[in-house]
Amino acid sequence: MASTYHKILIITAPSGAGKTSITHYLMNAFPQLAFSVSAATRQPRGSEVNGKDYYFLSPDEFKQKIKDKEFAEWEMVYEGKYYGTLKSELERIWANGQVPVLDIDVKGAIHVQQQYPINTLSIFIEPPSVDELKNRLLGRGTETDESLAARVNKAAYEISFKEHFDEVIVNDDLTQACNSARQLVNDFLARPEAEGQATD
Ligand code: 5GP
Repeated sequence: MASTYHKILIITAPSGAGKTSITHYLMNAFPQLAFSVSAATRQPRGSEVNGKDYYFLSPDEFKQKIKDKEFAEWEMVYEGKYYGTLKSELERIWANGQVPVLDIDVKGAIHVQQQYPINTLSIFIEPPSVDELKNRLLGRGTETDESLAARVNKAAYEISFKEHFDEVIVNDDLTQACNSARQLVNDFLARPEAEGQATD
């Protein structure tokens, strides 16, 4: 039976490439967008709030939700740290008549695209260089030497997946990158939702 698929906007990038700034910019520019709050097992940082930045779960709670098939996708993004998009979060946003924005890692983004291939726009934010990325992460001041090295290595690997996404924006100038993203999202939101064959 043909059914209408709801839209999903995915913003993905190596950590520190500026995807959070671009995501915030888009959220302000388009009231139709709603941030998809992920579940995560890491500790809250600074002023982060449960239910707003993440749903902070214990590893046991997270694993139970995996068993119960509550995730649209989940990944162990860093050693021992799980992150995932809850199906209930997507449903909640669609029920409000809004489009969820997923700020997620590259593997998670590929999985969401595979599961929701229709009416999904994926944008990969590419850092101008791995050195520049390292400087940005250092400037953020939230990393230990070990976590910085892990993020930089992972970034180099993730950049190799950029061709899997619909669009790539190189973030060497944040204002320009925001404008490019705005144009793409504007066109995406204006498109009618395509119909497709239900797979389940
Ligand atoms: P952070 O710990 O810095 O908040 O996030 C680490 C990484 O996890 C970022 O690249 C972020 O985009 C990614 N992330 C956040 N939520 C999710 C999610 O639900 N699924 C996946 N696969 N990655 C996520």
